[in-house]
Amino acid sequence: MAMFRTESVEEFYQIGEDIGSGQFSEVKKVTEKSTGKDYAGKFIRKRRSTASRRGVKREDIVREVSILEELSHDNIISLHDAFELQKEVVLILELVTGGELFHYLAEEDHVNEEVAAQFVKKILEALKHMHDRNICHLDLKPENIMLLNRNTQNIMLIDFGLSRRIKPGEDIRDIMGTAEFVAPEIINFEPLSLNTDMWAIGVITYILLSGLSPFLGDDQQETYENVTAINYSFEDDDFFSSTSELAKDFIDHLLLKDPRKRATVDQCLSHPWIMPRSKKQKVQRQTSHLKLENLRKFNAKKRWKQSMKVVSICNKLSKNARLRSASTTVDVNGASLTLTPCDEAPVSTDDYDGTSGRR
Ligand code: ATP
Repeated sequence: MAMFRTESVEEFYQIGEDIGSGQFSEVKKVTEKSTGKDYAGKFIRKRRSTASRRGVKREDIVREVSILEELSHDNIISLHDAFELQKEVVLILELVTGGELFHYLAEEDHVNEEVAAQFVKKILEALKHMHDRNICHLDLKPENIMLLNRNTQNIMLIDFGLSRRIKPGEDIRDIMGTAEFVAPEIINFEPLSLNTDMWAIGVITYILLSGLSPFLGDDQQETYENVTAINYSFEDDDFFSSTSELAKDFIDHLLLKDPRKRATVDQCLSHPWIMPRSKKQKVQRQTSHLKLENLRKFNAKKRWKQSMKVVSICNKLSKNARLRSASTTVDVNGASLTLTPCDEAPVSTDDYDGTSGRR
């Protein structure tokens, strides 16, 4: 059972700069006063009442903490400390400094599939540690796959806010996650299983190799329709001319509508794209490469979408605050943007759909 300390965080940690944020959280670099060691402090806003949609339910935070406490793996973020205050819970997590895997790869000049498969293998090993304990991540996406630092290239899975324990045969249904990465059973409100994560591994690998998001539509509804119709292909040469048949086979075993037919984490770990069995298979991985120019565009598009969401919220909030007369300049992802009054209806910050949703 998750235990929280109730003292003030500042008594034990020096609070430093912002390093990230989520729908209801802010992540800051913190330094432990007694050891001088740096950590990531995740400040999660608690939901104040059952009627509110703002903040995270205490029981969900307790679940995130108890799952983090149960996990112990080189490729999974570890929890060092946890505090509960009146309005928020603060998780003191292992600090990762290498940024997102996709950003790291996109900076390279050339990456072959052998290198890509080694990264996917590390993700699978972390997932195996979870699935062996009947824990499902349920929010696997590029933002949640980071590098511990730039020297070791060690993968780190982060953000266990949507994670669940799912025992075999247990009937858990929920609508959650980010449209581009959610499995058909989530959209159809059918039972979730450990293989719900395996769908996301298929989507992530597809993007990693091509820079193309397989199901992304013009809006969320179209994305959902593409997912439930399993509407993807490897036909476009601009994206797949340098992708191996082995990699396509790996993805084809994951993007299956029926979760029972999807490859499990163990089956993925022994798939020849991850574990080649012949010289021919090894050569196939070495001579196939990632479409890095497309991956750079994918990353840029994602940053742009996140910025536009922030601008939209700021515009709506500034209208709410009746700052109609003057325009305001804000810093969004390093860019200066001028917010002008708009004529949209008043909203609350709940309208921010972030990247993933707890509903
Ligand atoms: P979401 O609303 O997207 O589910 P969240 O509120 O659960 O997010 P996280 O995804 O855990 O929050 O963290 C938000 C961001 O903070 C991450 O995308 C990442 O950039 C940064 N971050 C989180 N944990 C760490 C960490 N341990 N070390 C460094 N940065 C981190």
